[in-house]
Amino acid sequence: MSTVFEPVAPATVPVLGQTAVFPVHRIYCVGRNYAAHAKEMGGTGREAPFFFMKPGDAALVAPPGTTTALPYPPLTHDLHHEIELVVAIGVGGRNIAVADAHQHIFGYAVGLDMTRRDLQADLKKQGRPWCIAKGFDHSAPIGAITPAALVPNMGKAAICLQVNGTVRQSGRTDQMICNIAETIAQLSAAWALQPGDLIYTGTPEGVSAVVRGDVLHGSIEGLQDITLRVA
Ligand code: MN
Repeated sequence: MSTVFEPVAPATVPVLGQTAVFPVHRIYCVGRNYAAHAKEMGGTGREAPFFFMKPGDAALVAPPGTTTALPYPPLTHDLHHEIELVVAIGVGGRNIAVADAHQHIFGYAVGLDMTRRDLQADLKKQGRPWCIAKGFDHSAPIGAITPAALVPNMGKAAICLQVNGTVRQSGRTDQMICNIAETIAQLSAAWALQPGDLIYTGTPEGVSAVVRGDVLHGSIEGLQDITLRVA
């Protein structure tokens, strides 16, 4: 089939131990999935988590052993970091049962849900959508994906973000309100999940602003670290 122009290629993420890369389809994000973060964002910490999306090409690959440039986006003066466990979907499906969810997981990665917090706060006040606050270019840094078979228990992993060597966020994935399997089940009730989908599963407390020159180092026990410098 001919196309009227060359389609934009999907973002691709390296996979630990393989030369083949992971082509990104959609990026789903879970909001307020850790109670302490929900509270710091003005909630009670007891509401059900909710979902939003970023474009697939917002993925910014941060390969292991490198420092990746993270462009400071326009239209904000309050760019926040949110360290998150990313679940990479390898087998699609609708209405996936919690008990079957792990069969759909290709692997896991360290990710950042970068946020224009000032715009998000304005949009919340006005009851408007968050797209411009969450779904901007390069808003979804991600490290190399580790295949699920190599990390059997991501439900109980330490998750940490340092900025310029100082710990800003530190938690454990078992603090999630909606765990990995429950998140996949809920998402697949709303959308048909596809191979290539990424799920950013929410952030622990401690989100805060970064400025140009800051170095962000994200780590999750068992996965490949990421390092980015705000440019
Ligand atoms: Mn987030």
